[in-house]
Amino acid sequence: MRLSRYFLPVLKETPSEAQIASHRLMLRAGMIKQASAGIYSWLPMGFKVLKKIEAIVHEEQMRAGHIPMLMPTLQSADLWRESGRYDDYGEEMLRITDRHGRDMLYGPTNEELITDIFRSHVGSYKDLPLTLYHIQWKFRDEIRPRFGVMRGREFYMKDGYNFDIDYDSAIHAYNRHMVSYLRTYERMGLKAIPMRADSGPIGGDDTHEFLVLADTGESEVFYDSAILDLTLGERKVNYDDRGECAGIVKEWTTPYARTDETHDPALYAEIPEARRKSSRGIEVGQIFYFGTKYSEPMGATVTNDKGERVPVHMGSHGIGVSRLVGAIIEASHDEKGIIWPEGVTPFHCGIVNLKQGDAEADAACAGIYKALTDKGLEPLYDDREERAGAKFATMDLIGLPWRITVGPRGLKNGVVELTCRRTGDSEEMTPAAAVAKVADIYAPHGPDAAPHWEPMAKSSFHTWL
Ligand code: ATP
Ligand code: MG
Repeated sequence: MRLSRYFLPVLKETPSEAQIASHRLMLRAGMIKQASAGIYSWLPMGFKVLKKIEAIVHEEQMRAGHIPMLMPTLQSADLWRESGRYDDYGEEMLRITDRHGRDMLYGPTNEELITDIFRSHVGSYKDLPLTLYHIQWKFRDEIRPRFGVMRGREFYMKDGYNFDIDYDSAIHAYNRHMVSYLRTYERMGLKAIPMRADSGPIGGDDTHEFLVLADTGESEVFYDSAILDLTLGERKVNYDDRGECAGIVKEWTTPYARTDETHDPALYAEIPEARRKSSRGIEVGQIFYFGTKYSEPMGATVTNDKGERVPVHMGSHGIGVSRLVGAIIEASHDEKGIIWPEGVTPFHCGIVNLKQGDAEADAACAGIYKALTDKGLEPLYDDREERAGAKFATMDLIGLPWRITVGPRGLKNGVVELTCRRTGDSEEMTPAAAVAKVADIYAPHGPDAAPHWEPMAKSSFHTWL
């Protein structure tokens, strides 16, 4: 993309309504525009990051064997009356009446709708286990929407639902979700810690929240710092192997990690003092096992191997896709702007032309642009007639992890400069070497040649249909 042809409405002034870094930076970098309280338009660069995060979520869900689908945003109130939650849900539910006087609502979550689909089409234990998920807009009429996309009223969420014949099988689904979530967040360059949590209005006994540590987080968390050393890395996971998934879950749930709702000071005091930590955290996901809470009242039953009708065991599992855009920025920025992790960056590499209109510099930039594009990468070329300082400031603000700077002086010696946004380190090298290095950074790696950091153009998200 050439910046002169893109739509990147960068703001010079820091908007006064934004209290936290991610909100300020998303507005300044032209990623979002508020449409009304807690409701945002996603401008091109914000939209790109949102879709990259969505693609990673899809890939890791499908890798775990979960099946994508799509349910509507508007739901009939009747289903919610059946489950008993129409009254329970309270003021956060946006209630709408259609022209025929029917009660509708903008879905805050989808347990009822998915249970209805299940009971209409599935009747035998032979059809289980089954996990369906979708990524769809939700609406919760939050009393105080704030922090930009972090606590919106309209927000984008992945929600998945497992249906299993018995407790053991449902716990395997729970474990599978925990492992796939750990991989999802790792690919986004995030450390998200699973913490024992409280189940709230969804109900049920087993639940973990995934929290990203950040001063601006709304939750208070307590943990053993040993948990920060855990990583899945290049580990290959067989999601059908119950023992293997349970082993990984055990590894991550053994060190103490809890939110204030479930915090146990006595257990916390047993952690060696140097490893005892408390801080703030941002909730980026949550998994639940709730047994037959919805299947029983809604009649979601199957015939078991003895020919009896039994209610299915269920769980639900959510990832805050739009909140993640803000959470990643909270975890990765400096005073100059955003620092995108490679896995979610809107463009792989910036190209800055220090002397637009100089025949040699223009030709070198065009060559680098083509070479990167030929390797399946998406560069953002700042080809505007602007001072070098302004171009650098824009690149730092929008946070592309790598930048190639091209100027007549360097070109005389056959070199350009490759700069890492995170460290600020620069290196001079030939244009070909710079392209090769950037391509190498983004080359696919990881378990089963996963499209680990694969450029979006080739992501399986675009080809899975
Ligand atoms: P919170 O405690 O932050 O209000 P929640 O526990 O009510 O969230 P869940 O029902 O667990 O939310 O939804 C799954 C995920 O959706 C959350 O982990 C969070 O990342 C995201 N999410 C929930 N509410 C919002 C919101 N108002 N704006 C943006 N993302 C949200
Ligand atoms: Mg939650």
